[in-house]
Amino acid sequence: MADIIQLLPDHVANQIAAGEVVQRPASAVKELLENAMDAQAGRIKLIVKDSGKTLIQVIDDGMGMSTTDARFCFERHATSKIKTAEDLFRLHTKGFRGEALASIAAVAQVELTTKQAESEVGTKIHIEGSKILRQEPTVAPKGTSVAVRRLFFNIPARRQFLKSDPVEFRHIIDEFHRIALTHPDTAFQLFHNDNELFNLPVSNLRQRIVNVFGGRTNEKLAPLNEETDLVGISGFVGKPEFAKRSKAEQFFFVNQRYIRNPYLHHAVMSAYDGLIKEGTQPSYFIYLNIDPASIDINIHPTKTEIKFENEQALYAILRASVKHSLGQFSAAAVLDFDRDQTLDVQYEQLKKTPSLPKIEVDADFNPFDNSKGFEQSRTSFKNTQPVWGSLYMGMESKSNNPLTEELEIDLESEEVTGSMFSQEAEKSNPTEYFQVREKYIMCMVKSGMLLIDQNRAHQRILYEDFLGKLSEEKTASQQLLFPITPDFSHGEVGLLSELREHLEHAGFCFSKFNQNGVEITGIPVLLSPEKTTAILQNLIEDLEYQIPDSYFSAIDLLAKKLSKSIAIKHGQSLNQKEQQQIIDSLFACKEPKLTPENKTVFIQLGWDEIDKKFN
Ligand code: ADP
Ligand code: MG
Repeated sequence: MADIIQLLPDHVANQIAAGEVVQRPASAVKELLENAMDAQAGRIKLIVKDSGKTLIQVIDDGMGMSTTDARFCFERHATSKIKTAEDLFRLHTKGFRGEALASIAAVAQVELTTKQAESEVGTKIHIEGSKILRQEPTVAPKGTSVAVRRLFFNIPARRQFLKSDPVEFRHIIDEFHRIALTHPDTAFQLFHNDNELFNLPVSNLRQRIVNVFGGRTNEKLAPLNEETDLVGISGFVGKPEFAKRSKAEQFFFVNQRYIRNPYLHHAVMSAYDGLIKEGTQPSYFIYLNIDPASIDINIHPTKTEIKFENEQALYAILRASVKHSLGQFSAAAVLDFDRDQTLDVQYEQLKKTPSLPKIEVDADFNPFDNSKGFEQSRTSFKNTQPVWGSLYMGMESKSNNPLTEELEIDLESEEVTGSMFSQEAEKSNPTEYFQVREKYIMCMVKSGMLLIDQNRAHQRILYEDFLGKLSEEKTASQQLLFPITPDFSHGEVGLLSELREHLEHAGFCFSKFNQNGVEITGIPVLLSPEKTTAILQNLIEDLEYQIPDSYFSAIDLLAKKLSKSIAIKHGQSLNQKEQQQIIDSLFACKEPKLTPENKTVFIQLGWDEIDKKFN
């Protein structure tokens, strides 16, 4: 039989290798950012279009490449970073395998422009599916720009399996965060579809964290510092009172590389034992400096796991130092680096006796005179308050629903024949319900009694109502007299923008919605203005954790948040009519037994059961 083994052509080998290195747009982002860091860039710009599916471009002002290197860098195993196997143990660069550019160029249309400081002209290369199409001299600033277009253009199956834009973009943000948080001495910008989402100037680590995660982060951070023979630990841990439900702000870096390590995560969590509510997560930004010889450095290009020689000792040291930091800084005031210095009393002023401030009084002012616009502002203010009558927003909409009408008629008759309460419970007589402990509605039915949790019942009612409305028309909104401008970071606004359309459907009106922040001029009718920022913040936390990847799950998330926040609370007393409306609307729901979060809404006690207890 003839010989059948042959070497794979380069472009095929590259495509296969690319499967390992480039799994999604975010992997290309990671490799390009790392290359820019390795080239000692002081400023890096990342430009993304359509979550990286159309364009990923990284522009740096680093050392650039010679014309020969520019051509050579796309070869597999072409690297300037190691020469011998021993070099592996003295690595100070992020890359070393020489595979990234070859892989990316195998599965995309790449345009590289690069120039070294000392060269007169730069080089521009077009390469597509591993084939160099053009190479020409070009005018360019010092540094390198790599533009990756139409990733996986030649592997339709891979392109098809990419997740939705929000999900892919979330991965890109994650990679961007990881690099930006390890290099506060490099300036970064991130543009997505022409919006500038991040602009991070050179700063210290604390400022960098705050610039990435928003102004409120500063007060949350407690510094961490520990030097031992085994490891140096620095960074910040979040004070327990700021723990939240999402894990998005948990970072370990080992020797300037982002890593994941469940064991060390456990060490940190155990330091918070008893300090945070169950189900909440502290933030942490922990930087470990460790002898490279004591870790397994043969890291897979895309893997973030790492093995330590001395894991147990590391666990103990880390736990102790987090505990120490929390004990020391948790309750203490923070040093506020960006406090407005002009508010400080200047030294020379300290010795002076302050003079009394002058007060100017308007003698003509009459607070009861409505002609000066008071009436107008009062009525507008009324609009911003949730109106009790409209508590039943969810119910009004059902009033021309034949089922509810039938139910209302039934409610007035003595004997119950209706089917609404069917298996769940039978009908109530209008007088046979009352509120207990401002928490439950007790309701008599033919076969026994029901104890309904008023808050949970209302959550269910509002949830189903929102679900319906969010997928149909726009819901009514209350206009705010004073627009709300929550203090959200670029990244947070970016996340929120994923739900913008749904928020508008739910009744939110935005007069501004861009990288500089949002301004809210209208909110859903029942939402109170004071709760607005909190509910959006809460929504962002959820988005940090996971961006809904379907239309339905986005609506579902929003409906859950809104209903939970708006629903009447325990401790609220309800009159007869209100109680009745809750009962009616609850049993007009598709799923009256459970809240949107699957908690029990009511319990049933049968007369049989009650009778038995008296035996
Ligand atoms: P690695 O980073 O593992 O060496 P890459 O395929 O990512 O492999 O890059 C190959 C080589 O191309 C690098 O070793 C480096 O010499 C050069 N290179 C890549 N990106 C840049 C850049 N942004 N600036 C300067 N040189 C670069
Ligand atoms: Mg590289």
